[in-house]
Amino acid sequence: MKKLEQLYEGKAKKVFATDQPDLVIVDYKDDATALNGKKRGTIKGKGAINNMMTNRLMQMLEKNGVPTHFVEEISDRETVVKKVSIVPLEVIIRNVAAGSLSKRLGIPEGTPLRKPVIEYCYKCDELDDPMVNEYHIAAMGWATDEQMKLIAEYALKVDSVLIRFFKEINVELIDFKLEFGVTSDGTLVLADEISPDTCRFWDATTHEKLDKDRFRRDMGGVEEAYIEMARRLHIEE
Ligand code: UDP
Repeated sequence: MKKLEQLYEGKAKKVFATDQPDLVIVDYKDDATALNGKKRGTIKGKGAINNMMTNRLMQMLEKNGVPTHFVEEISDRETVVKKVSIVPLEVIIRNVAAGSLSKRLGIPEGTPLRKPVIEYCYKCDELDDPMVNEYHIAAMGWATDEQMKLIAEYALKVDSVLIRFFKEINVELIDFKLEFGVTSDGTLVLADEISPDTCRFWDATTHEKLDKDRFRRDMGGVEEAYIEMARRLHIEE
């Protein structure tokens, strides 16, 4: 497969065309941003870790009945994926209170939630990704009711599969963000990435943060946290 012209450059990934119209190559960068792009930096080794972790998890999810955009890993940082049109929503699933939920509802970080919470944010940098509900989504035509039903079903499936998986490596899955896309034949699939950039991972014993919050909150030990997650997942760097 040929890597052709760059189609898009985002905050953490570049996307390239290929010689096949329905496939693209994503190329993961070490660049990190937070506070909606206001804070910038690099996390050495992040691109490779996020690429390999995402691919590993996506393949596991496929086996558990969640369709994904994953096709083939072609290098430490590059993966062939199905070309999709992204549903303009950040789908957030929470098991334990943290981050913006703790702030908004005044609940201390680390408080377990009685059942998983799904939240939707409209992907729009200029508006700081405002939270929306199913009524806004239907009214604006961002996704159909059928797609939203599938998104919620897949999101909860991803949550239960990942909770179980991370528990085995002594990691608590606090919350995470998913994105979905629609392929050329109209199939809804899980897209984007699942990594320490997009999940909160706490050591299950010490509650130490093993994710991008270390960068967002200037806690230090950022690279080390990504490397520790890679180590627990037996990802070779
Ligand atoms: N998240 C993300 N991208 C975003 C916003 C959030 O990947 O633009 C993830 C974040 O890593 C966390 C979860 O979604 O695992 C919930 O984030 P929250 O709403 O608490 O936002 P934050 O406190 O990070 O601003």
